[in-house]
Amino acid sequence: MTATWQQELKQALRNDHPTGLINQPGYDPAAAGLFAPVITDTLLQAIKQATDPAPLWRQFLPIQAEQKNPAGYVPDPVGDAAATQVPGLIHKYHGRVLLIASGSCAVNCRYCFRRHFPYRQSYAPRNQWQASIDYIQADDSIHEVILSGGDPLTLSTKQLAGLTAQLATIDHVKTLRIHSRMPVVLPARIDDEFHTWAESLSCHKVMVLHVNHPSELSPAARTAIARLRKLGFVLLNQSVMLHGINDQASTLAQLSHQLFEQGVLPYYLHQFDPVQNAAHFAVSPARTRAIHQQLMQQLPGYLVPKLVQEVAGEPHKTPL
Ligand code: SF4
Repeated sequence: MTATWQQELKQALRNDHPTGLINQPGYDPAAAGLFAPVITDTLLQAIKQATDPAPLWRQFLPIQAEQKNPAGYVPDPVGDAAATQVPGLIHKYHGRVLLIASGSCAVNCRYCFRRHFPYRQSYAPRNQWQASIDYIQADDSIHEVILSGGDPLTLSTKQLAGLTAQLATIDHVKTLRIHSRMPVVLPARIDDEFHTWAESLSCHKVMVLHVNHPSELSPAARTAIARLRKLGFVLLNQSVMLHGINDQASTLAQLSHQLFEQGVLPYYLHQFDPVQNAAHFAVSPARTRAIHQQLMQQLPGYLVPKLVQEVAGEPHKTPL
């Protein structure tokens, strides 16, 4: 019998795969102790079928390099703590706020800038959004609410519906943006119940996928993305420039083309945020710029993601 997305998520969170991460060469238990390894069965299958699985393993496998801690790599590189207004609500930029809707993800990406985020203290317990709703209600410059996390699509559809019903009572909120890796790493999440909920939303709907490498776009992920497109989501992608994963213009160009085939536009290419225990993913700004320059030479402008860096305290993303 096929597992439901909820069963697959539970299995991922238990790191309970007969052929999963633990058996991979290079798996480091001490690194796993620093940030729990989490991966879905769907993604494991995609990795096994990939012609070049190394860039995918590298994103999810805890390795010894995580134990290194060079100067300048910090727990909160983008200043989330300073921008938290009420538990679970981050307000950095004009016109939009970010809700930390969940403290869980279906995959734990080793480069994640929130790998040290204190979710237990810093996000609203599930279904208890009132303080965030009151904050948004009181500021009519906020026209967009971004659901982030963790991964907001780890919430049940019923929980999402409860949250969006509260947001729908605020006239100045016009757009709901969801940042999620679920359509790619656990495509079964985009199920009939999700479809019914998304179809019922009257606001503008934006989904930002986080795909770093073309091999992540498995057939199941493509089906989920097609479903989101039919539901009327504006589909964007953001990637992080990561050493040993996508730090080649040819890889990023291929990614842009494949995303476009699925109706997804490349939005941002982020310079890696210097988060503690992940320095081995860093690419120097000079090299990042050079790769982006090559990308501009290879692609039409609409397929070139904007190259940005998030600088703590700045009122917008900073072009690199
Ligand atoms: S928040 Fe996003 S990048 Fe971070 S571990 Fe979760 S899915 Fe990965």
